[in-house]
Amino acid sequence: MTADTRPHPTPPDGRPADGTASGDASGTERWEGILVVVEQHDGEPRTVSWQLVGQARRMAARLPGCPVMALVMGHQVRHVAQQAIAYGADVVLLADHPALGVYRTQPYSDVTLHVIRTHRPEIVLIGATYTGRDLAGAIATRVPTGLTADCTMLDVEPPPSRLLLASRPAFSEKLMATILCKRHRPQMATARPGVFEALEPDPSRPGEIRELAVTLDESRVAARVVRIERQTRTVRLDEARVIVAGGRGLGGPHGFRLLGDLAEALGGVVGASRPAVEAGWIGHEHQIGQTGQTVRPKLYVACGISGAVQHLVGMSGSEVIVAIDKDPQAPILQAADVAIVGDLYEVVPALIQEARAGRGPLVAAAREDGRR
Ligand SMILES: Cc1cc2nc3c(=O)[nH]c(=O)nc-3n(C[C@H](O)[C@H](O)[C@H](O)COP(=O)(O)OP(=O)(O)OC[C@H]3O[C@@H](n4cnc5c(N)ncnc54)[C@H](O)[C@@H]3O)c2cc1C
Repeated sequence: MTADTRPHPTPPDGRPADGTASGDASGTERWEGILVVVEQHDGEPRTVSWQLVGQARRMAARLPGCPVMALVMGHQVRHVAQQAIAYGADVVLLADHPALGVYRTQPYSDVTLHVIRTHRPEIVLIGATYTGRDLAGAIATRVPTGLTADCTMLDVEPPPSRLLLASRPAFSEKLMATILCKRHRPQMATARPGVFEALEPDPSRPGEIRELAVTLDESRVAARVVRIERQTRTVRLDEARVIVAGGRGLGGPHGFRLLGDLAEALGGVVGASRPAVEAGWIGHEHQIGQTGQTVRPKLYVACGISGAVQHLVGMSGSEVIVAIDKDPQAPILQAADVAIVGDLYEVVPALIQEARAGRGPLVAAAREDGRR
């Protein structure tokens, strides 16, 4: 572990650390490495950060000698830095300071800008979460380069171009656009949770933690955190291990109570297709798909969901898909590992009984250790 003795910079006007007039972002040379900004709250990292570190590793494999760096900001978050190495970072830049205890745009973007200017990563990746979107936007206004927001695919061209291929739905989600940032560095993108797969963490993986000498002055931070009120969120789809999802085939909101029982018995949460949300049967935070969330649980149980492409795109990364539909032609049955043709109101109660008894294929598929 080394201490980073570089001065804490942060001219808030967008001037570069090396003093060039244009911000030097117009040049593409001397920028190297992929930086992932790790998101944590109360010392709990968001899974999307590890998914991005995993994707950064896959992209770095196409760029010889390209290090994967992670930036961890917060207070008393050294354990998160260690996790970042286990998940694939070569170098972790650790900014640990009381002023970073709770996310606020100004100190977090000051530190991120400092790191971008001093470490000059060619690519910067941030999770497309509420805070990630806020941070990325704040940085993009101060670094003279582009930001591709809400990507659903990220790849990189090998040298000499080393271009980030940042893809996202465009034109009312009717087509996928791949956006390039050819003349400026860093190339910045945010990506949705659940789009990429995290690597299996390896606590013995070697890596370096560099502590940044943070000298943030609290009196110069405009925003004060007066009180934090935790939202009692009932669903965390992007982090769920098991999702039991319902669609129009439920026939009404009552169906979600049944699915809730199955989800509870399997230790999971409830998801939904767009028509079920639009009908007001369940809240939008449960929606999965192109205009909802992207998920990749161990087990996805689809009940009364036909399997339109806009739904499949949000859940096809699930490890095991079980689908129940009374129409044998429903496309979801083709996409499923286990296809059950039948009335969900007959099938689901039987599955609940099995799950409550701790037996059956769903219980096996939902197991943490993957034992069948
Ligand atoms: C730009 C755009 C974005 C979109 N984004 C999304 C999105 O994010 N998420 C999303 O889900 N959709 C999205 N859609 C909508 C998508 O195209 C489909 O219309 C939608 O996914 C269909 O929902 P569903 O499967 O619940 O309903 P349906 O297609 O109506 O399917 C219902 C299924 O339930 C079955 N069924 C009926 N009764 C029973 C029963 N008792 N037991 C068992 N099976 C039964 C039927 O056989 C049928 O297969 C989007 C569309 C567009 C144009």
